[in-house]
Amino acid sequence: DNNLIPHTSYLIPSEETIVALATPSGVGAIAVIRVSGSETFSIVNKLFRGKNLEKQASHTIHFGTIRDGEMIVDEVLVSLFKAPASYTREDTIEISCHGSDFIIQKILKLIIREGARLANAGEFTQRAFLNGQLDLAQAEAVADLIASDSEASHQTAINQIRGGFSKQIAQLREQLINFASLIELELDFGEEDVEFADRDDLRQLIFKIQTVLIPLIESFELGNVIKNGVPTVIVGKPNAGKSTLLNRLLNEEKAIVSDIAGTTRDVIEDELFIGGIRFRLIDTAGLRKATDTIEAIGVERTKQQMEKASLIVYLFDASEIQLSDIEIQLDEFNAPYLLVGNKVDKLPLDKKAEFDTVYPDIIWISASENKNIEFLKDTLVRKVKTKEVKSGDTVVTNLRHYQHLTQTNDALSNVLEGLSQSITGDFLAQDIRFALHHLGEITGQITTDDLLANIFSKFCIGK
Ligand code: GDP
Repeated sequence: DNNLIPHTSYLIPSEETIVALATPSGVGAIAVIRVSGSETFSIVNKLFRGKNLEKQASHTIHFGTIRDGEMIVDEVLVSLFKAPASYTREDTIEISCHGSDFIIQKILKLIIREGARLANAGEFTQRAFLNGQLDLAQAEAVADLIASDSEASHQTAINQIRGGFSKQIAQLREQLINFASLIELELDFGEEDVEFADRDDLRQLIFKIQTVLIPLIESFELGNVIKNGVPTVIVGKPNAGKSTLLNRLLNEEKAIVSDIAGTTRDVIEDELFIGGIRFRLIDTAGLRKATDTIEAIGVERTKQQMEKASLIVYLFDASEIQLSDIEIQLDEFNAPYLLVGNKVDKLPLDKKAEFDTVYPDIIWISASENKNIEFLKDTLVRKVKTKEVKSGDTVVTNLRHYQHLTQTNDALSNVLEGLSQSITGDFLAQDIRFALHHLGEITGQITTDDLLANIFSKFCIGK
């Protein structure tokens, strides 16, 4: 069965017809096997008993059987897509068969026997990219879409597949290419002192490009949050009620709750979806002077976790704490935080009023009595979503895109600086080329085999 092991080399010319299971392996009601490439129709036709598939119109579905000689393997439906009106822009057939492992393996082997080979991970999408159906950023969004597990990450992936910032990037690149060619032309004239590229126009164009680039670069923070979740750390003194709150939020007993101070020694990470956003909750040992070595590890970890956190929930026992304690604590935070006063059930009203005058943003809850937890959740979401204001509709979620956007922006800043110092065209040209290169890498106008292999290898087989 060696031919069922995927190939490892990418960028194979797409004359080869490829096949893969497009649905998850294992038993299911139906499974879909996808075949793509120039031989698709002739290969499937040899195995299919029903109509002559080579004579049928594109975008039609046909019932029939798949046979191995005279043996009926399964009753199937085949969906026909003729080039270029398919995902890969090649002739494609999707066979819907019954979802048994035996049937799936049998059909795959038959199709391979007739001349196809098993597809590499992401090869269908790679062909869609190579045939111009998707640009690289869109192809990567396909992988993100499949992997998306929250409403927000799904939405950003869909936006990107439908064009997203690719169009903007491509347009900007086009305009910059015009300038680059004018400047390169100046270089051809060597010693003669000619300027084809108007420096003021160039400056204006760069400003214009930067007004697009900078919001995209800034959106990465939110994009990353949407894709990877918000690392949220709950800190507070021992017995503030951190474990109780964590359990309340997660609605299950994951952390150990105890009356003995300092029992929450391990860092426990869990996920919580609120309002379509994934919060990665990190529970830590409380912030306090360590009394033994095990505790010391816990306190050290709390500090490390706080450095990694994008959001800090500072929980205090309102019935115990003094106003001055809060102040000392706030100095240590270097991420946005929420002040949460717990055990409000035990808090005298006058003390509450005293806190409220100094810190009007305190969210009062009772973790054990389940008071105001919904409000806390809403506030968590609002805290993250306010970042969205500056990013508009387009959100960059991909680290590779982010890096190229940043490098483009750096190169353009160099051009601006060069212009202000009236440097010669050859230096300008160099920075502009650099900017063009990075813009091109985002959409795939400039690629290397390694880059493509890296991107598409992250896909599942059959996509
Ligand atoms: P941690 O050390 O910060 O993780 O605190 P725990 O979650 O272990 O809670 C310490 C103690 O406070 C436990 O006995 C909890 O039952 C109690 N506790 C937690 N939340 C509340 C609350 O809202 N009201 C009251 N009265 N007790 C609470």
